[in-house]
Amino acid sequence: MQSSVSSLSGEFIAQTSEAEYRVEHLQEFVRQARICFFAAMLVNPLFLFSDWRFYGQANFFYVITSRAAVEIASLLCWIALARVRSFYRFELVCAVWAGLVIAAATALESSHTDLGLLIIFILSAIFYLALPVSFRLALACGVVGSVVMLVEYISSAPWTPTSYGQMAGVAMINAALALALILTKRLRRLNWAATRAERAANERLAKSRDMWQQFLQAVPAPLLITAKEDGRLIRVNDAAADYFGVDASAGVFKVEDCFDRKDWARLTASLRSSGRASGFEVRIHLPNGDEKDVLLAATTVATDGVEVVVTILVDITIRKELEALMKRMAHTDPLTGMPNRARFFSLAVDEIKRAQRYDRPLSVCMIDIDFFKRINDTYGHKFGDRALKAFAGLCRKWIREQDTVARIGGEEFGLLLPETDEDSALALADRLRAAVEELQLDQPVKSITVSIGVSAILPGEESVDAALSRADEALYSAKREGRNRAVLYRDIEAVL
Ligand code: GH3
Ligand code: MG
Ligand code: MG
Repeated sequence: MQSSVSSLSGEFIAQTSEAEYRVEHLQEFVRQARICFFAAMLVNPLFLFSDWRFYGQANFFYVITSRAAVEIASLLCWIALARVRSFYRFELVCAVWAGLVIAAATALESSHTDLGLLIIFILSAIFYLALPVSFRLALACGVVGSVVMLVEYISSAPWTPTSYGQMAGVAMINAALALALILTKRLRRLNWAATRAERAANERLAKSRDMWQQFLQAVPAPLLITAKEDGRLIRVNDAAADYFGVDASAGVFKVEDCFDRKDWARLTASLRSSGRASGFEVRIHLPNGDEKDVLLAATTVATDGVEVVVTILVDITIRKELEALMKRMAHTDPLTGMPNRARFFSLAVDEIKRAQRYDRPLSVCMIDIDFFKRINDTYGHKFGDRALKAFAGLCRKWIREQDTVARIGGEEFGLLLPETDEDSALALADRLRAAVEELQLDQPVKSITVSIGVSAILPGEESVDAALSRADEALYSAKREGRNRAVLYRDIEAVL
């Protein structure tokens, strides 16, 4: 909008701006003009008290007629204004009223009284300041009205030197009122333009806020905005409200409560030092009690002088579960569900380190099912598998909590026995052998037996390999001696 205002009229230079101003204020103008006409209807009869002095004179008829004309003109224009819908019509009605009032007042000027001069000034003031018409019309009414009335006033009596003063007075009042009108119009328009500019700026701001709000909501991942100072939740998008099951406006939800204290400290330390945190994999606790793994990225932003933290989360719970499953599978024998060979060796390394650090005994056993090939050959591979599973089930039930049993070959198993010297290990192995012997299997394989070789891990050994091969030798000795027995490597060492 062009908001330059003319110094000569106090109105907008751009026609469109002035037209807009008039349209927006039309109701106000109509109200003001109707008050003006109504006031004229009320005040005009009051002059009759003064006019009464002409009673019985020739001009009394003109006085009464003029007063009646003003009364009727004001009433009709007051009514007409109720129907006005455009500024043009509005000005037309005002112009008609002003014309009739000027005509009536001019008729009264012929009596050449003091009051006549006063009326010239009063009417000029009304046209300039009380009628909210355009500058041009106000000026025309003011100048034409005062000149016509003054001419009638002066010409109705002999010319005197005062007449010059009266003319100068009328010129002065016109100039002063025109200046006052220009100033009033100018100030109103500048004020209106400023208000409109402010409103437009506010609308633009609200629009841009709406746009950002929509962007925020459109982000498909949970997004949280918190105050950096105290972690207070400021805003969440729909995805976050769904994910956390919270209403951010409720004000009871605290993001901090979802984190373990250590993780929260790590996150806030990173935000404090670099203003951001990315690639943060962390386990969070949702208000409903669920546990979730999330990948989190957060950054600090300063808006309106307040530092906020924008955090976005990606749920990686399924990925983490899959990773854990794959890890388990990589360490587990699929048939028996026992740890596999690789797992046995890595656990053994940990146990050896622990045993050496605390100078504690540690033993291993090699277990081999006797004549297993025969079971396969006689009953088929399927029943061989069942026998392996049954053996694994027995081991799980039978071994102590600290022990590890793993499938390290086809029908060969390793047993790792922490806190156990080789004599105790031999006793334990023999009890296991006896338990296997007593195990009742499903038909058609009724029972199995195992041979077991036992050896201790010797001081200074860093891997289980050497102890396992000793246990293996003891195992073969057990096989040679007729199977279904447990043999300690130390006992055959002398023979070897
Ligand atoms: P020994 O008493 O001397 O140990 O005799 P054995 O028959 O048990 O020994 P051998 O090493 O000759 O046979 C082992 C058999 O174990 C051979 C193979 O078919 C069987 N085997 C290995 N893995 C599996 C398996 O996963 N399932 C089944 N059903 N059999 C298996
Ligand atoms: Mg074997
Ligand atoms: Mg065997």
